Amino acid sequence: MYTAFQNYLSNQLKEIKEAGLYKDERIITSPQGAEIELDTGQKVLNFCANNYLGLSNNPDLIEAAKSSLDDHGYGMSSVRFICGTTDLHKELERKIARFFNTEDTILYAACFDANGGVFEPLLTSEDAIISDALNHASIIDGVRLCKAQRYRYENADMEDLETQLQLAQEQRFRLIVTDGVFSMDGNVAPVKKIVELANQYNAMVMVDESHSAGVVGETGRGVTELYNIMGQVEIITGTLGKAFGGAIGGFTTGKKEIVELLRQRSRPYLFSNSIPPLVAAAGIKMVEMMTNTNELQDKLHRNAEYFISRMTNLGFDIKPTKSAICAVMLYDAKLSQEFAAKLLGEGIYVIGFSYPVVPKDQARIRVQLSAAHEKEHLDKAIKAFEKIGKGLGVLPPTPKAGF
Ligand SMILES: *Cc1c(COP(=O)(O)O)cnc(C)c1O
Repeated sequence: MYTAFQNYLSNQLKEIKEAGLYKDERIITSPQGAEIELDTGQKVLNFCANNYLGLSNNPDLIEAAKSSLDDHGYGMSSVRFICGTTDLHKELERKIARFFNTEDTILYAACFDANGGVFEPLLTSEDAIISDALNHASIIDGVRLCKAQRYRYENADMEDLETQLQLAQEQRFRLIVTDGVFSMDGNVAPVKKIVELANQYNAMVMVDESHSAGVVGETGRGVTELYNIMGQVEIITGTLGKAFGGAIGGFTTGKKEIVELLRQRSRPYLFSNSIPPLVAAAGIKMVEMMTNTNELQDKLHRNAEYFISRMTNLGFDIKPTKSAICAVMLYDAKLSQEFAAKLLGEGIYVIGFSYPVVPKDQARIRVQLSAAHEKEHLDKAIKAFEKIGKGLGVLPPTPKAGF
């Protein structure tokens, strides 16, 4: 049997390579950070991590994780409801709820699991899920596991959402679901308007804050802070794997009855191991830091504003954003690959994205800003972008002296 299957797989792999879609992995030999070292010995500035607050290698988080190893050990060897809940898990759940001004929180091994396990226990074939077309893969998969009727609206298109809400009136309960920040354009979902429409058409709202928590809003509390609607959405999901320390772990936070039912019925929670105590301990430290000082959020916001305004002044075409994702539009797939490769040559690590990850003719380089970046890092990246932009004809060449 395997010979035939092996041929089949080899052909698929060949097709992926021929289409230019094969993903190679670069190997990092240093901690994650603004400056990283690759196994080739090259040191590069990292502009493609979700390390928005620079916490991936934060000494206080490392210390909290280390000391929990001494008093809580390494692993839990259990799911939460058998013997996998420590005081640290409960404290982190409470702290996340306080951070988002919600009622209760349930932890998962990842936000992929939080989204995978949120719909099926709550909604049935009598209900409706109304989902943004560009929602994260984990939301799409979670919706697939649920029997509710599915409605889809074009990305952030409030007219289309209204149409879908009208169509969904025949169902019993309606849940609108959106990413807070969409990862490819960095655009922030119009959640204030979504909540208004939800009130008008008798629906509930779920926001996935994975790319917005820690980033968006003055104190990093995500899109509900940005729009001044904290506590007004029923469900928030998020990850500990991006701004919040970057290790692993996800959560659903929101109305207490929702969280209570998820603890009883959500399959990735019931049938998958607890996060290790060291992740919970570092998570507690992270929320405490974010509550005590706004230093990192402020620095991130300053860095994003500085980078985007400099790049715009140079003449780059940047998608409008309030997040820490800056899409430098190049439109052409080959150009974006070549641009990213040349940037790496200059010591700037970014990724070029093209079809099918983004729509055809919408190729771009995605730059992710971080509080870990210092001004000299940003300046080096901007200089490299300028040099290569001129070399590849994306920017007009510098006029010669005398002209
Ligand atoms: C990254 C991401 C996830 C997955 O988070 P993990 O904790 O890494 O599984 C889910 N939703 C969105 C919107 C994301 O950006």
